[in-house]
Order: sequence, then structure tokens, then C-alpha cells
Amino acid sequence: MTMHLDSFMAGLIRRNPGQPEFHQAVCEVAETLIPYINAHPVYERACILERLTEPDRIVIFRVCWEDDAGNVRVNRGYRVQFNNAIGPYKGGLRFDKSVSLSILKFLGFEQIFKNSLTTLPMGGAKGGSDFNPKGKSDREVMRFCQAFMSELYRHIGKDVDVPAGDIGVGTREISYLFGQYKRLRNEFTGVLTGKGLAFGGSPVRTEATGYGCVYFAREMLARQHEGLEGKRCVVSGAGNVAQYAAQKLMQEGAKVLTLSDRSGYIFEPEGLTEEELAFIIDLKTNRRGDLSEVAKEFGTDYFPGEKPWGVPCDMAFPCATQNEIEEEDARRLLANGCRAVVEGANMPTTREALRHFRAARILFAPGKAANAGGVAISGLEMTQNSMRLTWPREEVDRQLQQIMKRIHEQCVAHGQEDSWVDYVKGANIAGFIKVAGAMLAYGIL
Ligand code: GLU
Repeated sequence: MTMHLDSFMAGLIRRNPGQPEFHQAVCEVAETLIPYINAHPVYERACILERLTEPDRIVIFRVCWEDDAGNVRVNRGYRVQFNNAIGPYKGGLRFDKSVSLSILKFLGFEQIFKNSLTTLPMGGAKGGSDFNPKGKSDREVMRFCQAFMSELYRHIGKDVDVPAGDIGVGTREISYLFGQYKRLRNEFTGVLTGKGLAFGGSPVRTEATGYGCVYFAREMLARQHEGLEGKRCVVSGAGNVAQYAAQKLMQEGAKVLTLSDRSGYIFEPEGLTEEELAFIIDLKTNRRGDLSEVAKEFGTDYFPGEKPWGVPCDMAFPCATQNEIEEEDARRLLANGCRAVVEGANMPTTREALRHFRAARILFAPGKAANAGGVAISGLEMTQNSMRLTWPREEVDRQLQQIMKRIHEQCVAHGQEDSWVDYVKGANIAGFIKVAGAMLAYGIL
């Protein structure tokens, strides 16, 4: 028996109606995995792909909290525990008005492969809520986090499921969530990652996703006997991933031409300065406003309501959110000379845009490989918590660089095609082999 993409996807869509992001994430993986599975029938006989695309369990719960005006508010909370074949469930929590089951299933599914690629023992999960922290007071965010954890705590644990941050969940939210878990369980343990340094956090966790992307880009370029020095980079987003991708790019001598947020993008033809970036990090970390503030402060060019993909560049780093590069954006990037795309966000490229990049055979690093640095350092935070110690910053950064190098090597090993490396295929197959091997070993579960 051979597997066929069309019939596999038809079955998946039938079982999971109305979940377009989940379909998209699975299709991108299935497309590259099915030929591999057909060449290795043991996976097909054991229905590994069917099992991998069905979450172990999903918890959906009501989160009820009180706003500052005394009104009762109701949101929906989720935790998708997708697969724990190679380690405890691990993955972030996203608080954003766009959060739906489809989005969390796509993210949880990607996380299985990403976590496997890190070479650390972590399964895949994701969770969150449609709660929108924007415009909420500190007190409201605290009350929401406490209410959210009042249900979530019974489903997680340091050897069971270890959540972390994602969009809308940073150090402030993780701190409130951790405090509530500690109170409910009377237990000080590494049940969340991305914690503050004073209570079990790891050095470099804040910077890890952004730095990791740049380390991955450095590896891709090194294979082509090139470096980041002088490269013109278009970066989207202005949150945690974008901030530290930009910082590391600048340290490596590249020019960061743009950053963006939901209001628009800023453009600096000679590259952002350290002062501008420091201002942006402070602006966003302390929730003081949108990127128009940068224009007011420094006179930087600002394009309200637009995305940065029309800016001529050598490399693009989409670091905002899913499906932010559409077909037309891909066309413009390629026409304007872009030769590498490194996904800092999860699935920022639509299927149509991806088709263009792959047809042009440019360097394309999928998020599950390029942005794995964040969860990798989360894995090291778990290790440090188990050992009850904290490693020095230099040591964690050294390990991050090594992990990104190993992820790159795995992608090349499984994605090499003639003179081009298909990093999408490489990441999917390398991530799959480890998880599928463990599932086969467990028998029929
Ligand atoms: N949310 C991040 C990701 O997409 C980090 C997850 C984690 O550290 O558990 O990989």
C-alpha cells in the first residue's frame, strides 16, 4: 500500500472541519513526509502519520475573571497535548484575540517536530486563550492569569506538561501563572519555562528564539561560503523574537532595514541604530505604544498599515505571526533580490508563497528549524531546574549555538537535493524519525 497526499488530506479535513491553519500545517509536513513514508513501509503499516495528526488530548475550559470596572468577563482556555512520545508535553501559551482550536492545533503539531529537532527530550503541545492582553491593566492581566491557571494546574506538571510563553505571554504573564501554580500546589518546581531569573529562569531564554534564528541563518550562509556581514535584512514583528533577531543581526554586522507591528512598519535605509533598537525594546516590553513612536522620536520612515515585504533586501526574517507572507509578498521579495527567508515566527509563509520560494530554490528555513532556539533554551531551563542550579550566560549561549548548528546539520542530512538543500523536507523528516521511532517502539498506543 502506498500513501497518497490527496486522500490523506481529505480524511484529515473530514475529521477536523473548519480548521484551516491546522490543515495547512499538516499538509506542509505530509507533502514532504509521504514520499519518505512510502519508502519506509514500517511507518505506513503502523499508521504513524494518522496517529501523529490526532492529538493525545485537548483540554478546553472556561476562564472567568473580573475586570477593573467590576464586570464579570468570560474567555476560553485551551491546552492541546499533542504528542509525548519523546518527552513531557512542551510548548507555549498564546493569549491573543485570534486564538482558536485550529491555530493551537497547528502550533502544537509543529511543536512536535520542532522539539524533536532540538535533540532534547520534549514532546509537543500548545495552549492559550482568546483573551487579548492589549489595553488591559496589570491587575486585569494578573486576575486573568490566576483564573487561567486555576484550571490548567491540574493538567500540567514538571514531568507531564511544561508550558511557556508565546504571543501575548511574556515574563509578566509567566510570573503570574507560576505564582498561582505554586500557591495551588504548594510546590516550587520547573512547571513553566521563561521564568524570571530570580525564580528559576534561564539566562538567554528571553533572547533565545531571535538569537537562534540568526545562528541558523549563519549556518545556512556558511555552507555557501558567505556571512551575515553587510546583508540587508527585512525583519517583521517587533515583539520578543523580532527584537532579539534584530539585535543579533546587528551584532553580526548585518543591516536591519525594517521592523513592524500591527500598526505598520519602520524603515531605516542604512539599518536601525542601537539607540533605535533599545528604544523599541523598551517601548514594546513596557507596552508604551506602536512603532509610530519611533518615527516621532528619531524621524525614522514609518509606513502605517503596511507590511515590509516590498523593501529590497538580501534576506527576510518574518518574526510576527502566521501567514504574514502571502503570494504577492513572496513575488515582491524575490523580484527585489531576496535570496534567503528565515522564519522566526511559526508558519509565517502561506502555502502559495512557500511554493514560490521553493520554486526559486532560495535558502528557506522553516520555523520549526529556525525558531527552535526558544524551546531549546526552555529545555535547558528544565534541566537547570531539575539540577537546582543556574548556568552562566556564556555557557547557555554556547549551547544554543551548538543546538542550532546540530539542527542545521540534521536538515542538510535529510534535505540535500543536488546542489540545493530543501530545509522544509529536511526538518520534517529529521523531526519525524525520532518521534516515529519512539512510537513504533511503544507498540500500538
Ligand atoms: N512559543 C515558543 C515556540 O513557539 C516556545 C515554546 C517553549 O519554550 O515551550 O516554540
